[in-house]
Order: sequence, then structure tokens, then C-alpha cells
Amino acid sequence: MVSAKLTNGYLFDIQGFSIHDGPGCRTLIFLKGCSLQCSWCSNPEGLHNFPEPLYNSSKCIFDFLCIEACGKQAITAVDHDLHFDNNLCSDCVAYECAKACCTGALKIGGYKISGDELMKKIQRDRQYWGSAGGITLTGGEPFLQPLFVKALLQRCHQSYIHTAVETCGNVAWKNIEPSLEYLDWVFYDIKHMDNSRHVAMTGTENKMILENARTLATNFTGRLVFRMPVIPGYNDDEEHIRQLSGFLNSIGKDEINILPLHHLGREKYSLLGKTYYTENFIPPLKESLSYIQSVFRDHKINCYIGTETPF
Ligand code: SF4
Ligand code: SF4
Repeated sequence: MVSAKLTNGYLFDIQGFSIHDGPGCRTLIFLKGCSLQCSWCSNPEGLHNFPEPLYNSSKCIFDFLCIEACGKQAITAVDHDLHFDNNLCSDCVAYECAKACCTGALKIGGYKISGDELMKKIQRDRQYWGSAGGITLTGGEPFLQPLFVKALLQRCHQSYIHTAVETCGNVAWKNIEPSLEYLDWVFYDIKHMDNSRHVAMTGTENKMILENARTLATNFTGRLVFRMPVIPGYNDDEEHIRQLSGFLNSIGKDEINILPLHHLGREKYSLLGKTYYTENFIPPLKESLSYIQSVFRDHKINCYIGTETPF
């Protein structure tokens, strides 16, 4: 088989020793760029498809070395705070601001990596996976970098590495389809079945997500586990759970992993100069998750709470 050329990709993190996103011990690879803007997202640094400044004002000594270093005049100092012009930063390749900062107040979130370099890291991590582990691509939305993802997954499969991806599904089917033969496992997120409710909290319609879910259910021969973040007051009501159950029944799929809202990503919003809109949402109680599980079970759907997915 001829291997696709390993291209460059944009990541914002690589984490080892994960045991919650696929079988065994895994390396999680976070790809930059997403087509949704979920209000509760715990990885807001993965939203844009370009590296961007992460600014921690509590470490800043306001010597303005970053402002002097930036060749694009993208930084403005306002009342003991720095503002970054995202439009200018999105084209940056030098990142002189972060190089000039000696306190660690300014870092760059995200980086370009060659496929060969990433494969070396993966092969190195392989030593601790044991027999069942592998890689899981997540993000951001991995399928927004389809050529990079396909070539990487193909290379992994040729090396007998177990592969999984977590996707929001909001990409053209042509971005997903070429990778499927190299994937063992797909986690597929569904946030809301009602289109207007979907738009309200993600900024995007759900039509393509549901269409792709249906197509995937027919075409993918590996394991397909749906996921739903549980956002109290948004998607945890019985009517919505029954709607989603009906959809899964209609496409012949019977596994869903529900993930309770948490606020672990909250601090990153201030580093990015963004507002965290779900600040006041209270994470769901155990009883509420158990009730959602029972409604799914009424529809013959295996519902796993949090980290309970059997791998
Ligand atoms: S990322 Fe580039 S453009 Fe933006 S502030 Fe830093 S040096 Fe300037
Ligand atoms: S160089 Fe670093 S410490 Fe100095 S003003 Fe810029 S962010 Fe703050």
C-alpha cells in the first residue's frame, strides 16, 4: 500500500497516560481549529486554527518588551492589561512577543508540527501503552485537518497502532470519509437535537452533524460511541434525552457516553482575553446523570456516565 505523504499539522497539546478516551493507556493529540463555538468548551485555545497568544496578567511586570518586539503592532496596553489584535496575530509566524517575555506571562498556544516528528513522539510513547493502548485524536476538531489526519492514521495503522478520534461531526463528509479505514474507534459528539437550541450554545446549526452521524453509522465498521456533554438547563431535560434516544434508535446505534459539565477550562478564557459564558452553570448532580441514564436505557441504549465507558 502506498502511504499518503505526512504533511504538517497544527496542534495545541499532546498528553500521555490517558485512560478515558479509548482502550488501554493512550496518547491524546489535540488538533487546533474547530467549527463550533460551544459556550462550555474546556479547550478554548483549540478553537482557532492558528497559534495565538496566551497572556497571564498576574505574571506580567509591564515592562512592555513584548510590545517593542512585536513587528505588527498587535499589542495595546490598557489599564494594566494587554490586548491582542487576533486578526494580526493570526498571520504571525515569528511570535517575537513570547520570545521577549522573560516572566512567562506570555506564551503562544499552539504550534505547527511535521507528521514525521509527531510519528516519532507516538512511537516513543508506545513503550508505555501496553498491548491495548494507542492514540486518540481530539481537539479542536481533528477532521478540519483532513490530509494530516488521514496520513497520520494510515501511518499508525501500518505500525499496528490502535487509533481513535473524537469529533464534533461539524465538517464536510469528504473530510471524514477518507480516514475511516484507518480508524478503530470514533467518539461522536451530539450537543442538542433541536436546531435553534444548538445554534444558541454552539453558534452553529446541527444539520450536518446529524447527517454525518447517520452516514457514519452506516459506513463505519469500527466502534462508534456517541457522546453528549450534560449542560444543566440546556440539554438534560427528559424530552431532549428521548429525542436523542429516538435518533440513535433510528440509525441503529446503542452506545452513548454522557459527560458532565465541568469548569476546568475556565482559567484559559482569561488567558485568551475571552468571556466564559457558562461560568454560572452548575455541574449536574449524580442523581440527574442517573436519571438521564435511565431514560436512555428505556430506549435500549447503553449509557455510560463520565469515565464508565467499557473499553
Ligand atoms: S503573536 Fe505575533 S503578531 Fe501577535 S503579538 Fe505576538 S508577535 Fe505580535
Ligand atoms: S514582555 Fe511579558 S512581562 Fe513584559 S509586558 Fe509583555 S507580557 Fe508583560
